[in-house]
Amino acid sequence: MFTRTLRECLPELVQLERFIARARFKVNHESSVAFKDLSLPIYSVEVMPFKAGLPTVIFTGGIHGIERIGTQVLLAYMDMLSTKLSWDAGLQHQLSVLNIIFIPIVNPGGMYLNRRANPKGVDLMRNAPIEAETQPPLLGGGQRLSSKLPWYCGNTVYGLEQESQTLMDIVERYAQQSPFTISTDCHSGFGLRDHLWFPYAYRKRPIAALDKLYALKLLLDKTYPHHDYVFEPQSLSYITHGDLWDYIYKRHKNNNESVLLPLTLEMGSWNWVKKHPIQLLSFAGLFNPIVPHRQRRVLRRHLMLFDFICSAAIAHKKWIPKKKQKQRMFQAAEQFWYRASP
Ligand SMILES: [Zn+2]
Repeated sequence: MFTRTLRECLPELVQLERFIARARFKVNHESSVAFKDLSLPIYSVEVMPFKAGLPTVIFTGGIHGIERIGTQVLLAYMDMLSTKLSWDAGLQHQLSVLNIIFIPIVNPGGMYLNRRANPKGVDLMRNAPIEAETQPPLLGGGQRLSSKLPWYCGNTVYGLEQESQTLMDIVERYAQQSPFTISTDCHSGFGLRDHLWFPYAYRKRPIAALDKLYALKLLLDKTYPHHDYVFEPQSLSYITHGDLWDYIYKRHKNNNESVLLPLTLEMGSWNWVKKHPIQLLSFAGLFNPIVPHRQRRVLRRHLMLFDFICSAAIAHKKWIPKKKQKQRMFQAAEQFWYRASP
């Protein structure tokens, strides 16, 4: 009965556990989220056992439980890596110089309930103790009124929610031991196009790593001139309280010499709705492709991006601005994204 319910309500976890059982990846059971009579695990998965000192890529998904496609895209990529690992010498070499980590289901309770927040009603992406510098959109930017309303920040006086804390602990554990880390957090729901966001969400002023992020954007543009990602600071779309990646980035920067670049892949689900307006009739349809051929298209659409991120992490020394270039790159980025006067 329990298994049947889990298969119906959280098929992605069943799929992940089946994958774990047959793949040779290293799995860490990081914590378990208890609610009702359930105990749902949060796993981290190392494609090869983690090696300190190597660059690292961390893929995360399922922070917003309703945005299931983020987890599904990661499961598809994990499956592909597992198959390729048995025959692809290029990938085998890549994995001798790069750590790849997955945390595909950060909010299993929210996914089980098919809703954005965790079982306590907290929006994990509004849960960090960080206040917006300018007025965010009403409610959507995070609110402390009630867990019955969406975008509830939770009460950070008692610390982060268990899921947020688990995610932060995992990212910090790996990023502290790596000279260079890119994290990519998969979401869906905003706009007609796919966005690649980076911090900050809480302020319009640029991030310290702006030079590196602009260099990464230029590398993507040059390598894939026909890509369709809008690569920009999240604050250009909207400002929020409590963004977890703002918080993780700031903590890492203040305590480490190593580099952490947090990206969010925000898949533009309005496009799927535009092509198939009947999706408006279901809440899940606002965030996930419903038509099978479109879902398959989304599952393969981002593989190129994920491969690019892995290759870019390995080669980070080649494209990260050196001392003399840093300021010039930072100014160019400011001009491009923030239209600052030169
Ligand atoms: Zn989201």
